[in-house]
Amino acid sequence: MRPDRFDSWLTVNRKGLYCRPGGFHIDPYGGAKRAVVTHGHSDHARPGHDHVLATRETLGVMTTRLGTPARSGTQIAAYGEPIAIGDVTVTLYPAGHVLGSAQVLIEWQGARVVVSGDYKRGADPTCPAFELVPCHLFITEATFALPVFQHGDVREEVAKLLKSRAQFPDRCHVVGVYGLGKCQRLIALLREAGYDRPIYLHGALIDCCALYESYGVRLGELRSATGAKREEMKGEIVLAPPSAIADRWSRRLPDPLTAFASGWMRVRARARQQGVELPLVISDHADWRELTETIAETGAEEVWVTHGREDALLHHIQMTGRKGRALALIGREDEDQ
Ligand SMILES: [Zn+2]
Ligand SMILES: [Zn+2]
Repeated sequence: MRPDRFDSWLTVNRKGLYCRPGGFHIDPYGGAKRAVVTHGHSDHARPGHDHVLATRETLGVMTTRLGTPARSGTQIAAYGEPIAIGDVTVTLYPAGHVLGSAQVLIEWQGARVVVSGDYKRGADPTCPAFELVPCHLFITEATFALPVFQHGDVREEVAKLLKSRAQFPDRCHVVGVYGLGKCQRLIALLREAGYDRPIYLHGALIDCCALYESYGVRLGELRSATGAKREEMKGEIVLAPPSAIADRWSRRLPDPLTAFASGWMRVRARARQQGVELPLVISDHADWRELTETIAETGAEEVWVTHGREDALLHHIQMTGRKGRALALIGREDEDQ
């Protein structure tokens, strides 16, 4: 193993990305001996590991979603706290993606490697902002790695929702949101925009909101849509998982107007296909500009791409004089769908 030959000590095996001198996997598929988990989304935080190291919040998410984060033990890592594992030092830094999300800095014999996990650079009132960590090798996500993806200002998207509500005061605005992250971020953005009415929640979103609140993220008055009367929800905003907005569940709402908050809403055909009347471009992933600027800012001379649309990004990496590699990790779903 040579520190400057990254592929000699960071390998990909059937459980995913593995750090040999540390003896651990990062976001492994399941059943790993020792796992470092970047955040609580289900394609990163899987069940069945013996030992998990993560932020306190990510372990909280794993407990809420999986019952238990690990079979034999967990270790909390605070942001910025160096932790020795085997022969390497691991430090977690905020990724700005969802509550508790972290980038992983691995230091071994002078070499610095950062695994981004999922990240974004834009402001999010529900989690600490992405912190830039200089490194030699940057291992990045690539969910929205095409130049066409430019997410824009989320406040404008929230203003669109509030304008539509004012325009159609009798209709119930039902917004599709992913349960961990997007849901709470949209609520917090609505509150920042001065919206102080109760916000109604599909039953599947309640636990995650309670978890955020237990970590001090204030979401204002939330009500369960399940117990609410049809008449009561006239003109109100209801949040639901994307799968619920098009099915029977939303039909019991008063004259529902369907919205969807996702980075994919930049693709109008996709919005139309899903029957979304009001597409809101709100993403918890970096867009093309954020991805390419972050790569440059880290100073990394080598960049590996974990999941997403890697072709365009690899091309960009090579055009800018860096060494690039696609890791093609299987089983990474895009939770933003
Ligand atoms: Zn994620
Ligand atoms: Zn992901």
